[in-house]
Formats: sequence, structure tokens, C-alpha cells
Amino acid sequence: MRQSRLFLTTLREVPADAEVISHQLMLRAGLMRQLTSGVYELLPLGWRVLYKIEQIVREEMDRAGAQEVLLPTIQPLELWERSGRSEDYGPLMFRLTDRHERAMVLGPTHEEVITSLVQQEIHSYRQLPVILYQIQTKFRDEPRPRAGLLRGREFRMKDAYSFDLDEAGLDRSYRAMFEAYCRIFDRIGVRYRAVDADPGAIGGEGGTHEFMVLSDAGEDTIAGCTSCDYAANIEKAAGQALPRADATATPAPQTVPTPGTRTIEDLVRVLNVDAGQIIKVVVYVADGQPVAACLRGDHEVNEVKLKNHLGVRTLELATPEQVLQWTGKPVGFVGPQCGLRVVFDRDIWSVTDGVVASDTPDAHDIHVVPGRDFPVGETADIRNVREGDACPKCGGSLRFYRGIEVGHVFKLGTKYSKVFGAVYQDENGQERTIIMGCYGLGTTRVIQAVIEQCHDADGIIWPMAIAPYHVHIVPVNTADPAQQQTAEALYEQLRSRGVEVLLDDRDERPGVKFKDADLIGLPLRITVGRKAGDGVVELKERATGQVSELTLEQAVAQIVERVNPSR
Ligand SMILES: [Zn+2]
Repeated sequence: MRQSRLFLTTLREVPADAEVISHQLMLRAGLMRQLTSGVYELLPLGWRVLYKIEQIVREEMDRAGAQEVLLPTIQPLELWERSGRSEDYGPLMFRLTDRHERAMVLGPTHEEVITSLVQQEIHSYRQLPVILYQIQTKFRDEPRPRAGLLRGREFRMKDAYSFDLDEAGLDRSYRAMFEAYCRIFDRIGVRYRAVDADPGAIGGEGGTHEFMVLSDAGEDTIAGCTSCDYAANIEKAAGQALPRADATATPAPQTVPTPGTRTIEDLVRVLNVDAGQIIKVVVYVADGQPVAACLRGDHEVNEVKLKNHLGVRTLELATPEQVLQWTGKPVGFVGPQCGLRVVFDRDIWSVTDGVVASDTPDAHDIHVVPGRDFPVGETADIRNVREGDACPKCGGSLRFYRGIEVGHVFKLGTKYSKVFGAVYQDENGQERTIIMGCYGLGTTRVIQAVIEQCHDADGIIWPMAIAPYHVHIVPVNTADPAQQQTAEALYEQLRSRGVEVLLDDRDERPGVKFKDADLIGLPLRITVGRKAGDGVVELKERATGQVSELTLEQAVAQIVERVNPSR
């Protein structure tokens, strides 16, 4: 492509309403423009990236045995009323009425449509299993669209649905989709994690995973192992229990006055101890009843874990008034023997020389040992993991990552097949309900997630597999016949070898051209300068900035090699 003909305008200024870097770069590098809030036009460079991402997705879905279909955007509201999701979605769903006053929606997702289709087409066990997928535009009327394609109102997704005879079949389909997702993100060339989003499914076959592109700009915190593939959302991550420590040398407890100490930091300062020695008690209201959580001062209560352990619907912090009323002590002076139901974190056993609130007012007891100086009863893992905790799978070290969710695989079971009567007859003529899974991947979202991870101060750094073009040829001075001829010759040679080339044939200053090239971020750049007359050009790698001077033949050979590495 000749840049002089390309439908492209780059922007020098950062657009005022774009906060995240990927949104800014999408606009500045001329990949897209905004039509209206949360709705974007993809321009030629942006469309080429999306097309390549969707092609990788398509190839890997097909390889995994899924079959492509195309379902309608417009769906009768009636389907959504049958599933009960019309209410769940509420104003998030774009609704419209046709000329016959029939209520319709613009599909935010397609479980209803696909299940009603399969209900009509599938009747026998011989027709199963089947996995269907589509790549389509979805609509969500977000209250606050932001961050460009990361939270837009119109976006593209690949959504797949599996239909199986039984749970074992669902496990196979789920595994096939999970592996296809790994291949997709490997091929795109982005760092990602498959995050276990299922509480209490460590090691086993989880019921749902989120695929996260790692980026500091991500909204979600992930605890991931540095040695194996274990990763989980912070709400769900579990480490291994800390070793139970030997406290035989700890002297007898002693009471010391600590007036006015309300926080862990106060105690650390006044008593000159580590936060990890302090045994704190946090009082909650669980389904209306008081419950205390007891854990180390340097650990945080994980309210999801506590809630699951208690099996309650609601859990909130008690007010200072409630704490005083129930324990007779102000906040900060409640100990494990407070008379309430106490749930101990299992790592309370790692404390060898502890500090607890004393029965004496305005005082704490030091040299306290759990089990020796107070009874430890009901115990569970009720805390957030910390960096450095041991991985539950391999014992390696956990660390925190930020991530942007780009895909989700999910075992649905019979939720939709029951509602829509999607059944089959088994070998014995018995009617059975089809078991489903669903597998989403936001293809427009991936573009921006990749940019969040792959950019620097000058612009985007595209991975080769999804770059809008592979190579940018930049003649420094288009008025110089030698440079012009060399650039043209390279352009033709590379294109004839299947390389996608953008040739900057504009009559612009070199500085402008180089700035644009860095902003657009093609993986390789050839600069055709003064040495063009000697048959020498410069090859620059966008990601590393590495520059080498090469003959034309060498340049062509290296580029072909990089673009098409032997598989
Ligand atoms: Zn591990």
C-alpha cells in the first residue's frame, strides 16, 4: 500500500476524552474514529488488525472442530422473556419495535437464539456433540461507555456454544475450547493468563476460566504462579497454608497498656512488633448475625471466602456501635475470646509470639501463642493471598498481575436447554436434556488489550501476526532518484514474496515520516537513505529499536524469514 493513497490521518495531539493509552493510540494512529458515544468506525489499518485477529480465531475454532454460523443481530424480545434475561439485562439491552409493533432487541449475546435453533434441529444422540460459533457484532447500551473498544456499546465477538450428551462430553468440549483459546493468544503473540474463575476448583476441571491479557492498565488483579500456569482472580486465589510454627520457646503472656491504639499500625509502633505478630479480630454481620474473623494483622479478610465458608447471603462489616454492643469492647480492642462465633484463618498457626487485645481495658497481651493462650476452633482459609505465598498447585511463588479480560469459557449445563426444551433421545429412546457450554472472545477488545501491553512512548508495537502491515518502507528523501528507485524495488520484491508492505511515498520531512512510522508501529521498518546508491538500506525492529545495515538482498531475505518463520 502506498501511504499517499491510504485513508489515514495520524494525530499529533492526545484526544481530550481518551483516558487509557490504547484508546489514545487507536485514535492517534488512525485506526478508528468515534461516531457517537461508545460507537466507533474502524478505518483501514484498524480493520486489517481486526480481520487478522478474527482469521486466527476462525482457524483455531475450525481446527478444534467447531462449525461457523452467522446468527441474526435482530432478535425477538420474546426469546429473552422465555429465558428470564430480559429483566436481567434491563436497560443494557438495545430495544426496538418493528412496524407490526413486535418488540425486538439488538443481541447482546446469543444463548437464546442458538438454543432455540438447536432445539429445532437436534433430536437424536447421533447428532451430538456439536460446537457452533459465529463472529458477530454485539450491542450493549452501557451507561458509561469509556476506554474506546474496551467498553463500547457496539463491539465484535466470537461466541461459541457446545452441545453435548453428558457431563463427560461437556468436559471434552470445554477442554477443546480452552486449548483453542491458548493457541489463539499464543499466535496473536500477547502475554496472557487463563484465570480460574471458579471458587474451590483448584486442580480439578474448573467450570469457568477468564482469559486475561496482562497489562498494568487492567481492571482485574490476578494472583499467578511464577513457576506453573496456576492463576486466579484475587477474590478466588488460594495459596498453600503457611507452615505451623514452633512456639515452645515463647515466654508466658504479659499485659501491657496500649491506650488509644486503634489500628494495626498504631500497635506496630507502640509495641515495636511486626504486623504479622498481631492477632486481629474483625467483626461482621452475616445474614443479620454477628460473626468474628480472626487473622494475622498483616493479612486481609477475603470476604468472598468468608461468605462461602459461612454459607450466608449477606456479609458486611459491623458498625462500631454493634461491635461495642456485642463484645463490650471498642473496635481495636476485641480479642479472639470475645464471646462471638469466631472463624480463624488457618494461618493463625504461623504466629509464634503474638499480640492480642487484653481483657484489661486499653491494653494488649504480648507473648501470646494461638492454641496455648486461647482456644482455636472453627478454622478456614479466609484471607487474600499475598505476593510470595505458595502456589496451591506446585508450591512455587505467587505474584500479582493486572489483566484485561478478553475471553471467557463457561460450563452452562442445562440452564438454557431446559428453558427452550432442547432435548435428544438417547440409545434407549429416553429423552435427555442437552448439556451446554459457552465460549466468548471479544475480538475488538483484543485489539486494544494488545496495544495496552505492546506500546512505548512513541506509539504502538504490533506483534507480527496481527500487524496491519508487516513492513514500513520509508525513503528519507523522495526527491532523490536513487532512494525512490530503491524503495520502489524493495516494495515490489517484498510484495511478490507475500510480505505486506506500507510504502511511505509522501513528500514529507523525514522527521514527520519517522514519527508516524513509530506511532503506527509496524514490526519492521526499512529506511532508504543516502546509502541507497550503494545498494545499502537500514532495517529497524520496532520492538527493540535494533538497527542493521543490509544490502537489498539481505534485507529481503531477513524480512521474508521474519514474516514467515518456518513452522
Ligand atoms: Zn504453581
